Amino acid sequence: MTPELQAAPGTITKPDIVPYVISYTGEHDHPTKLVATKRGLRFVGEAPGDRDSRGVLWIRQDQKPGDGRPDFGGINSARQRRCMSQFLCQVCAGPPSVTTDGMLFLLLDKPEPGWNDWPERMGTTHPPLCARCAAQAVRMCGALRHGFTAVRVRRPSIAGVDGKVYGPGAEFVQRVVQYDELDVLRWTVAEQLVAILIECTVITDLEDDLHSASLLAAPTRD
Ligand SMILES: [Zn+2]
Repeated sequence: MTPELQAAPGTITKPDIVPYVISYTGEHDHPTKLVATKRGLRFVGEAPGDRDSRGVLWIRQDQKPGDGRPDFGGINSARQRRCMSQFLCQVCAGPPSVTTDGMLFLLLDKPEPGWNDWPERMGTTHPPLCARCAAQAVRMCGALRHGFTAVRVRRPSIAGVDGKVYGPGAEFVQRVVQYDELDVLRWTVAEQLVAILIECTVITDLEDDLHSASLLAAPTRD
């Protein structure tokens, strides 16, 4: 990676871009009362918009982007879900960068020992990025400055949700639930969509990759 894509030491103390998917301090979760039924969980006073097209129950949150301060450690579920379901850039909510090697993702995860083709078939809650936002994020995102893997993915596939899986009482486990885990899914309140990364190419030089991507006249999407 060239110096152009690296943060100049000591010059950047806080991000000046606010990713679309993050939450604001003025946005709060709505208190909800859960009821266990034979078919699984439901909200008291449940509305049609509380479930997605698969019937999965989703957390209720304020939708007031810009209200308060950006919470760079928090994710707004509805905005994450919109970006991931349509594969939009997580920062600007525009079209992501796509080349013949696929769609651009930046991963904070570290390769796992023994997983030779990592990150092939890894699940992620982080939507893709466009070239401009990726270049900015690498310069300004504190989390990315601690290390990241850039990868292009030909067939990212929505495979489940991350959320709270409730037991018989009020206790819950935070975990990823795949869509084929129907007996778990019906006890889940979803918070983020999870995509599986299929047909991955790890990028060794992101600046070169982004430069090549910008030369493509008309990026195509499946
Ligand atoms: Zn973008």
